[in-house]
Amino acid sequence: MLCWTISLKIQVVNALVAANVVLCRRKARRMDADETGRIFRPSRFQGKLRSAGSQAGKKASTLTGNFPPKVFSFFARGDEGHMAQYGSFPRSWRCYGPLASGLVGIIFCLFLAATGKGQTQWVEVRQIGPFFCYAEFPLAEVPQIPRTLAQLEADLIRSLGIQPQPTAVEVYLFAEERNYRSFVAQFYPDVPYRRALYVRREGRPVVLAYRSEQLDIDLRHECTHALLHSWLPYVPLWLDEGLAEYFEQPPGRRAFGHPHLRIVRLQAFFGRNPSLEKLEAITAMESMGEKEYRASWGWVHYLLHGPPEANEEFRLFLQTIQAGGLSPPLSVRLRNRIPKLEENFRHHFRSWHP
Ligand SMILES: [Zn+2]
Repeated sequence: MLCWTISLKIQVVNALVAANVVLCRRKARRMDADETGRIFRPSRFQGKLRSAGSQAGKKASTLTGNFPPKVFSFFARGDEGHMAQYGSFPRSWRCYGPLASGLVGIIFCLFLAATGKGQTQWVEVRQIGPFFCYAEFPLAEVPQIPRTLAQLEADLIRSLGIQPQPTAVEVYLFAEERNYRSFVAQFYPDVPYRRALYVRREGRPVVLAYRSEQLDIDLRHECTHALLHSWLPYVPLWLDEGLAEYFEQPPGRRAFGHPHLRIVRLQAFFGRNPSLEKLEAITAMESMGEKEYRASWGWVHYLLHGPPEANEEFRLFLQTIQAGGLSPPLSVRLRNRIPKLEENFRHHFRSWHP
């Protein structure tokens, strides 16, 4: 009953905003430009599919593109880089009197109720650190979600040594795969199927996922992308995916329990190691296959758990990027500190045991 009531309230609010957005679209755009000092433009990633999952194309991926209309994100607010308060309306709401919008919204709501069609029914809306979750199911039913999201930001900060920036990541959680598929098919018809997505919407990070046994892994993977791209002006593709692969595992499995570890260690025993330069040369997600994901994970593992000079150079590299500076590729920096880099990489994995 409570859920039904919440859903009804949300539907009403959603409908009100939907109607209002239709009415105010042009004016809202002007307000966006006025209030933020710039007009929303496609981000530099827009239009590119950052494909990807490591597990035979079934995994999470990073997608960028035009986000669905604001009606979908009825609570999401305006300015990039600043948090919204729950229940606040988009700025477009304020551009007409509440009476007119309310009347239109009620009519629209009745229409939705009559047709049975409308927006997603968010049963719960909750802020967890920088993540604003909109879920089609009570989050208490999947307790690992709040735990996962609450811990991820702190883990990234501690491991990478970079300064967190004010961030608002919208996380949309669908109750069933079909709801998620339907939504993605509607708004991203050209996107190959992935279990979860990371998108940029008007510059803001958004994560989409559905309830499954792998939901916590998907969330950690995609939310790692979301935080990295919120904190850093750019992230090399291989490093972006390598870090997402690393942090997708629960904390207790990251160092020793990742499925990639067995193969990377086996290769090290046979004198083989992935080329960091080859990974750095990859600029398109289409070139990232399972081998490249595993290799990226391997180098991230080496940077985080390898010799102190490798970790130090990695942190300096990230700090330079975050400060807006230009840095040589990480491979160059590492070779200056560790002359026999490949040998050191193999030694790290050959001797890596709990
Ligand atoms: Zn990814």
